[in-house]
Amino acid sequence: MEFRDLKTQYLQNKEAIDSAIQNVLLSGHFIGGEPVQQLEEKLADYVGVKHCITCANGTDALQLSLMAWNIGEGDAVFVPDFTFFSTAEVIPLVKATPVFVDIDKDTFNLSAESLEKAIQNVLKNGKITPKAVIAVDLFGQPADFAEIRKITEKYKLLLLEDGAQGFGGRIKSKRACSFGDIATTSFFPAKPLGCYGDGGAVFTDNDEWAELIQSYKVHGKGADKYDNVRIGLNSRLDAIQAAVLLVKFKFFDREIALCNQVAEQYTDQLNSFIKAPVIRKDMISSWAQYTICFQNNKDRERAIRNLKQNGIPSAIYYQRPMHLQKAFSSCAEGSEFQCKVTESICSCCLSLPMHAYMDMDDITIISQILNGERK
Ligand SMILES: *Cc1c(COP(=O)(O)O)cnc(C)c1O
Repeated sequence: MEFRDLKTQYLQNKEAIDSAIQNVLLSGHFIGGEPVQQLEEKLADYVGVKHCITCANGTDALQLSLMAWNIGEGDAVFVPDFTFFSTAEVIPLVKATPVFVDIDKDTFNLSAESLEKAIQNVLKNGKITPKAVIAVDLFGQPADFAEIRKITEKYKLLLLEDGAQGFGGRIKSKRACSFGDIATTSFFPAKPLGCYGDGGAVFTDNDEWAELIQSYKVHGKGADKYDNVRIGLNSRLDAIQAAVLLVKFKFFDREIALCNQVAEQYTDQLNSFIKAPVIRKDMISSWAQYTICFQNNKDRERAIRNLKQNGIPSAIYYQRPMHLQKAFSSCAEGSEFQCKVTESICSCCLSLPMHAYMDMDDITIISQILNGERK
C-alpha cells in the first residue's frame, strides 16, 4: 500500500502526461516559456487572485514573499509551532526573528488567541517589532482566517498564507491561497497538486509586491536579467514541471472530491478512542494528510507497529515542535510562551495513507487494525 499513490495517478493519466513532457522536449525550451505562463494564468484564475508567480519550490515562495515585504533584522514574524520546518526556516534566512505560536487542538492550525498573546508579549518585551504572521493551511484545511485577520488588522501586521498543503481547499467558495496578503504553495510531488520534481508559486493581488517577487526570483533583475538592481535568488519552475502540472490540474478538483470521500470513510470507521481530524464548518480540506490522534504515545507506537506488520505505511507529522528544533535555539523567541497544545499533539498524532486512488476496502482494513479489531 502507498502512503500517497503517485504511481497509480501516473498510470491512469500516462498518455496525457507523457505527451505533455514530450512536447516540451520537442520544443527545446526548458526554462520558462509557454507552459509556465499558461500555468500561472490558470492557477491565478482558479485561486481568484491577480498574480501567480511560479518559482523553484514552496520554501523559496515563502522567502520571496518575506523579501518583497522587506522583512529583516529586528522584525518579529509569528509562525505556528506545529508545521513543516520551512515555514519557520525562511524567517532567520531573511535575518528576522521567528516567534512560535501555539495551535488549536482540533484543527492543528494557528490559534488566534495564542497569536494575540504572543504579539502582546513581543510588544511588552520591546526588543523586536511585530511585522508579519505566517498562517499555515495545515494538512489541507485552511487556517482560521476570519479570526486571524481580525488580529493582523488590529496590530497592523502583514498576513502570509503558507498554502503548501492547502492548495485546493476552500472556506465557503473562496479558495486557499487567496486569504493572505500574499500566499504561497508547493508542487512537491506529495502535495495536493504535485509535479515530478520541485516547484512552487506565490499568489497576490498586489501589483507592487508581484513585481518585486518577479525581480527577486530572477537574480534581482531590473529591466532584464543582466540588469541587476537588488540581490535575489535563482528560483524558477521549469517547463517540464509546468507541463505536468497543467495535465494534473485538469483532474485536480476530482481528486480532491475523492480524497474527501476517503476522509469520510476513515472518520466513519475509526472508533471513539481515536480522534479523527476536525474540519470546521464552511471549510473544505484538500487532505494533504489525514491525521489522527491517539490517547498517548504508547497507543500510537502500537498502532504504527500493527500497521507496519500489515504492510501499511504511516507517518508522524510532526514529531517535534518548532521551538524544540535545535536550529532555532539561537535565533527564535517564544519557547518561553510555551506551546502546550503543540507539545501534546506531537506526542500522539499519526498520519494515515491518504490519496485519491485508495481502495475503500483498504480503509476498512486500516480502521480495523487501528480499532484493535484485526491483528
Ligand atoms: C512542503 C511544505 C513547504 C515547503 O515546500 P517545498 O516545495 O518542499 O520547499 C512549506 N510549508 C509547508 C507547510 C509544507 O508542507
